[in-house]
Amino acid sequence: MYMIETRQAPAELRTQTEMDGILKALISKNYVPALRSGAAAIFKSCGASINICDPECANIVYRMFGDPSTPARYGRTLEIVGDIFFYKNNMIALQPRGRTLYVLEIREHLVTSHLSDFCQAVADGAASTIDGRRLRGMSFEWIEPPPARRRIIPVGRNRALARPMSDLTTKPAELSDELVGDSNLLVNRERRDFLVRLAQLGKARATDAQADVEAGHVSPLIERGLVRKEFLVLCKRDSHTICTVETREQLAAESSRKILCSICGRPFSEETIQEIYALTGRARKMLDGSHWMTVWVTSILVESGIPLGQILWGATSGEDEIDIIVTVRNQSIFFELKDRMFGLGDAYPFTARVQRYGANAGVIISMEGVADEVGKFLSEQSRSLGRAIYAIAGEREVRTEVPAMLLERAQLSVAEGLKEVFYDMGLNPAPIFEVWSKKKQKTLR
Ligand SMILES: [Zn+2]
Repeated sequence: MYMIETRQAPAELRTQTEMDGILKALISKNYVPALRSGAAAIFKSCGASINICDPECANIVYRMFGDPSTPARYGRTLEIVGDIFFYKNNMIALQPRGRTLYVLEIREHLVTSHLSDFCQAVADGAASTIDGRRLRGMSFEWIEPPPARRRIIPVGRNRALARPMSDLTTKPAELSDELVGDSNLLVNRERRDFLVRLAQLGKARATDAQADVEAGHVSPLIERGLVRKEFLVLCKRDSHTICTVETREQLAAESSRKILCSICGRPFSEETIQEIYALTGRARKMLDGSHWMTVWVTSILVESGIPLGQILWGATSGEDEIDIIVTVRNQSIFFELKDRMFGLGDAYPFTARVQRYGANAGVIISMEGVADEVGKFLSEQSRSLGRAIYAIAGEREVRTEVPAMLLERAQLSVAEGLKEVFYDMGLNPAPIFEVWSKKKQKTLR
């Protein structure tokens, strides 16, 4: 998944020459301006050579690639052309915006950020190339700018029914190694069924409980503390319960005390011993409302690069409930989880909620499958709805398609972010990002 970070500093540039001076300093630190490199190649191809930091180069970029209907053309803002850089594994954009200098970095979530170094290089570049009197009016204290104007269009919103996202009461997501470990065990359908049966029975004889499940599935549940074992001591003569003990050692201890059964006179160790399974409180919590699924999907989201703080659980407002809400930059993604077949009857309320609260995408996750009518229903709805609702079924699919879906949504955010940065200039480096991103995905595979 792509992470997007932005910084701005109140350092107002007044001329293209100031910008080009900073770029010259950046080039000496291996930050190569890609747009100007393109323009310089054009000059070279017609036999005219030009310095990459010559304002003529910026002029070519602006006149050839800029959208003529943008604000700068009407003289509302200064025409100072910034640039984009491909540095190590990251893509960085630098552009003056109004009275500020604006920087945006795009990187994959496991890759190191070079944003701070870049911001420092810009400040150093300005200090070494811009006149001292001008510099006094500038500050290079980089801060995170306010959130961008939201431009990613929510899913076919019905205005009459629309409600603000703030109506929803939410809980922050919580993860621990223990929770994730437990949920990973429960992804297995057989184990889950075993626990559900045990929950219905309360307690069960090991032999009965294990009747419909492979023994191999039970021992990890005991080891992890989801199932508790105890031993029931029954009289061999009349089968009355003598006592229950937690461990075999305890049983041996009871026997060694030479207490004999009051009915048949045998020591406890010679009576009938039954192994009993009982559900622990932890297992009950994981089964309750399929909480294990919420934990499991959340762990996949975190592995895919979503910070835990951007994941909310159990959002409710009146009748409405959304299992998980994820915020990726300026997008909200709603998740609906079902530990059974997801049918048409589930699809209506879910898509209605996605539309009501203006989410940008909805994700259906089912362990058992998504009914054919659901796909048909989604494609019959507006095109925007069909594109923004993802239906994923099955363990393997969830593990691969959830990260793929997040990547797709992040790419949308990146494209919007780049458009936003260069909006005044009418430049749109999003197609360059797409080429770069595709190449990256190919090398990853
Ligand atoms: Zn007895």
